Order: sequence, then structure tokens, then C-alpha cells
Amino acid sequence: MTEKLVEVKDLEISFGEGSKKFVAVKNANFFINKGETFSLVGESGSGKTTIGRAIIGLNDTSGGDILYEGKKINGKKSKEESAELIRKIQMIFQDPAASLNERATIDYIISEGLYNFKLFKDEEERQAKVKEIITEVGLLAEHLTRYPHEFSGGQRQRIGIARALVMKPDFVIADEPISALDVSVRAQVLNLLKKFQRELGLTYLFIAHDLSVVRFISDRIAVIYKGVIVEVAETEELFNNPIHPYTQSLLSAVPIPDPLLERQKVLKVYNPDQHDYSVDKPTMVEIRPGHFVWANQAEIARYKKEL
Ligand code: ATP
Repeated sequence: MTEKLVEVKDLEISFGEGSKKFVAVKNANFFINKGETFSLVGESGSGKTTIGRAIIGLNDTSGGDILYEGKKINGKKSKEESAELIRKIQMIFQDPAASLNERATIDYIISEGLYNFKLFKDEEERQAKVKEIITEVGLLAEHLTRYPHEFSGGQRQRIGIARALVMKPDFVIADEPISALDVSVRAQVLNLLKKFQRELGLTYLFIAHDLSVVRFISDRIAVIYKGVIVEVAETEELFNNPIHPYTQSLLSAVPIPDPLLERQKVLKVYNPDQHDYSVDKPTMVEIRPGHFVWANQAEIARYKKEL
């Protein structure tokens, strides 16, 4: 039985007021099952990070609901509820160079959340927690007295992972965690994240701009275009039967390892003007079991014929 950990319903996130109001995310609908890796994929500026930040409470929402274990978490919360959510939901950032405080030791960086939420009974317990997690991510206890600049990009991302996991979260939002890393260490960091998921039963929201990166790690994928989630499906279903024309265009750009096929590949260009939503309005429709697409009635009829 799959259980939903996170549910996002008709979510809208806007910045600014009045004539300066900019709606970064609209009508977003998706859910994330406990224990799965769910990826949110779309081009730069499409609203992926904005959604991630709204789930951890860093961005306000202007409409809709975010539920965590069935309870609404956007909008007003008590101090205790906020603290509990900050511990349960942790984030790993894209650029480990920018996200670590250069003037703090690794020991302090990893311990910061523990200090903020007093998650240890004495100094001995804090040190034990930090030593355990630093070795779990493949670094050494003697690294704890050093500073971020003494580490490579891959090692810094390991520190970022340690800082998140020391909080014993249930849910981790990984915002492009490997895109700033050398190609040679990307697989190691992905494998490390996968290892923790297996051992700790973590649920991941993985944010990426490239479909080929998330194919091998995701259970399900959501595709976002200009703040609108246009398609959600299990990974292989999405790759085999992409329905929304934007998903089809993203897939047509995925590199093919065979040079001959790569040269013959036809790129599909997405034209958003092809949708006439003036009268027949779109909604998120489950077109096949577990496969959702943003479409109006006329499009659904056409997509069903094409399937
Ligand atoms: P990237 O892959 O580049 O990180 P993204 O898909 O994560 O892109 P977001 O960072 O979520 O995109 O940004 C979505 C849109 O919201 C962008 O147009 C961005 O300029 C805008 N935006 C994000 N944060 C703010 C803010 N604090 N104030 C105003 N606009 C913002």
C-alpha cells in the first residue's frame, strides 16, 4: 500500500504585489509517496526551486494547499509545528560552495541544526552524532576541524548531505545536487543519496533541469513548464508514452549514446500557442492509471486517440 507523504493541491506562488505581481507557480497538483524518489523537471526559471522552498516553508504561498502526512503545512503554523517540520524536511542545495558558511568549521556546519533545535542531551552525544554522519558520508572525523575551502566540490556536497541527514529527516529536497559537480563524482553522490534512502527509508524530491539525469533514480517524474505542472507519471511510463507536447520536446532533446542515432534525431520544438484555453479550460487529468496530464477536454479526447 502506497501512502502519500506530501500532497500539493492547486498551489499558487506569487512574488510582489499589484501591477508588479508575478505568478511563479500556478495550479500545481502532485503528490509524493512515502519512500519514493519523485523528480521535478523543467527548464531554468520554471518554478522548481520555488516549489521546493514553499514545501519547506521558505516561500509563502498565495493559493492552494501543501499537505504533509495529511496536515496542511502552508500558511500559519505554531512555533512547535514549524520546528518539527524543519527537522523532518531537509534540503540539499545545488552549489555546495555557496551553501556552506566559509568561516565555520565542518563540525559547526554539520551541528548547526542540532544546536538550533537542541537535538542532543550533552556535548558527548552531539559529537557522537556528528562523527557518525561524517563517516557515513565517506569523510573522516579529523575533517571536522577544517573549513569548507579545504574540500573539493564532491566532498563539499557530502558535507551538505551530512548537514541535512544529521537531523534525521523523513523527507529530503535535493535541488540540483549534482549539477555543479564534476562529471566524475556525480555518480558517487547519487549513489550515496540512494544508499541513505535504502537504509533510512527516506523520501526524496529531486529537482533537475535534465530528464536524462533523473531517469535512473526516479520512481516518478513531474514535468513543469513556466510554473505549471504539465505531466506526472512513473518514470518509464513518461519516457515511453510522453503525452504533453512540452514533455515530448524535452524528451526529444535527451542525448542518445549512439552517434548515428544522435545525428538522425529530430528535435521537437514546443509551441505554447498550440493550446486554446480561452473557453475549454485545462485541468490535471488522470489519462491512464497514475499518468496525469494538464489538458482541456478537447486535448484529452485527442491524446486518448493517440495513445
Ligand atoms: P533554476 O533551474 O534556474 O533554479 P527554477 O525552475 O528552480 O530555475 P525558480 O528559481 O523557482 O526556477 O524561479 C521561478 C521564477 O520565479 C523565476 O522567474 C524567478 O525569477 C522567480 N522568482 C524566484 N524567487 C523570487 C523572488 N524571491 N522574488 C521574485 N521573483 C522570484
